[in-house]
Amino acid sequence: MRVPEKTDLVRIHILDPRTVNQIAAGEVVERPASVVKELVENAIDAGAGSITIDLTATKESITAIRVTDDGCGMTPADARLAFVPHATSKIATLDDLTRIRTLGFRGEALATIAAVSRVTLVTKPRGSGAVPGTRVVVEGGDVLETAGTGAPDGTSILVQDLFFNTPARRKFLKSRNTELAHIHDILEGICLSHPDIAFHLSYNGTEQLVTDRTTRPLDTIARLFGSEVIRDLVPVEASLPFLSITGFVSRPSLARKDRLRIIVSVNQRFVTSPAINDAIKAGYGTLLPKDRFPVAFLNLSIDTTLVDVNVHPTKKQIRLSREKEITEMIRKSVWDTLLARDLIPSAEHPATMIPLVPEPMTAPVKTYDLSTTPAPGGVFEFTHAGTAATDQRLRQTELPVGSDPTYLVSSLLPEIEVIGEFSGIYILARTTGDELLLIDQHAAHERILYEQVTGQALETRPSQELISPVVLHRTPGEAAILRDLLPALALEGFILEGFGGDAFLVRAIPVVLGRLEETTIIDEIISDLVSEDAAQVVTNRERITRIVACRGALKAGTVCTREQCQRIVDQLRRMKNPFTCPHGRPTMIRFTRRELDAMFKRV
Ligand code: ADP
Ligand code: MG
Repeated sequence: MRVPEKTDLVRIHILDPRTVNQIAAGEVVERPASVVKELVENAIDAGAGSITIDLTATKESITAIRVTDDGCGMTPADARLAFVPHATSKIATLDDLTRIRTLGFRGEALATIAAVSRVTLVTKPRGSGAVPGTRVVVEGGDVLETAGTGAPDGTSILVQDLFFNTPARRKFLKSRNTELAHIHDILEGICLSHPDIAFHLSYNGTEQLVTDRTTRPLDTIARLFGSEVIRDLVPVEASLPFLSITGFVSRPSLARKDRLRIIVSVNQRFVTSPAINDAIKAGYGTLLPKDRFPVAFLNLSIDTTLVDVNVHPTKKQIRLSREKEITEMIRKSVWDTLLARDLIPSAEHPATMIPLVPEPMTAPVKTYDLSTTPAPGGVFEFTHAGTAATDQRLRQTELPVGSDPTYLVSSLLPEIEVIGEFSGIYILARTTGDELLLIDQHAAHERILYEQVTGQALETRPSQELISPVVLHRTPGEAAILRDLLPALALEGFILEGFGGDAFLVRAIPVVLGRLEETTIIDEIISDLVSEDAAQVVTNRERITRIVACRGALKAGTVCTREQCQRIVDQLRRMKNPFTCPHGRPTMIRFTRRELDAMFKRV
């Protein structure tokens, strides 16, 4: 292009359609993930039951995207028209937009994609029998070929050399992995909003993500994010005349540092809505710290006249009429769901809610004949020395009274009165709400220790010198792992140094572990740390903290006095998340009077 000189008379001219398309492409097609989104949405609009996405990539970039569907297909005439700007089969007048049920309607995706890449379309109308299909090749907006071809029912669109003719845009593409991550994010949202469609994503011929057609959204969630996630989800359901909400939100224990797992669809369209995200987060009240976000998969069905999807060419944003009412309804239903029944796992649904808890009604009952078999190890007896040791342990882990005067008001648990303990493992208690609680003493204490440590603002956690340093011997492999972890351990308050060969000298340990009567705990912690699969998603700090909390907590079988149990429960009431141990196991199970009555067939 010639840069006009000052003296030139600059004339207004109408841009040729090709340039218009290339400029417009920037809005619809930002990156490979936008191509995937548009093509997959077209396949959904075509009524596909199965959609396959094949990606080809080099080390640097994604070179080809193919989306194949078994939807309605196109006639030869429509196949050509599909690439004309503003050609759409989905709306005819602006008025249709208020009733829009399809994902597309602007008629610009195919035209703009074809303006900035090389597209090969092969399509055949469903049920057209022996009539051949159509093949259309478009490059940089020019139709290079239209021909009849053999083809299965449905549509397959191959997009190659994206942005080959718009180098400025190509320059802004991120690394291949970043682009792949975007594609995954988009597909996850689309899969969740359409559990009734089977999706297959492959990458250089290797399967990446597969979902089956299902009527159970939980199946799709498990496929995408693993079946462990499901354990911590509770169903949400609410409806108003113009709005219905279905889906799942996580228990607070599943909190994340980002909002990436808040996935929302509105009328089966995967959308990004800060207002809806904020409402979901608000539904957790104080159950989550400010900087933590829940996992949530919500599908909203909103009267289409209240939803404006024509805000942006990518149609990822929406504008809501009656937004205040809608977001308030979302907040309230999340809050009600969390408080109504699921924060403290109830005995009513133990199997579905926490698979770790055995089903109390059907599990084989172990019985001890107490007349002949003494209780194992005599653990049911208090010993004076044992009680004193437990006292010391508890004192060391107690939060200073008054460090947070608001805790009683803001406690997530009702007032709890301890009744007694069972087996050195469970605390029996009642709430002011006429419920019976079984509390796992170890899990509760583990939670207390964990929040003690994580509540410290210091980067380096306080440590205490051991009166006599402890020597640890490790295998060469473990020693190598341990050497790498020494700086991380030092931050957590463990001061270790090499002691010749594969031995280490432990000079200091975290304050939270207290004055140890037995130093075996140190060995246990280090063993856990070096033997654990370090490929976990948590940081070293988090791993070490969890292990310290677990090993430092009262061991199962430690019989506590009622007063000691009460101290544990009182501490637990001050926790940010009193419901689970740091590994996500429940700290307590609740039986309401109604549930007990039902078990005894009193109703
Ligand atoms: P829009 O989706 O907004 O209508 P597009 O440019 O994405 O615009 O598609 C243009 C038209 O091409 C669609 O309206 C539809 O009729 C047709 N089309 C596109 N993809 C498919 C497909 N996979 N199966 C059947 N028809 C399709
Ligand atoms: Mg479309």
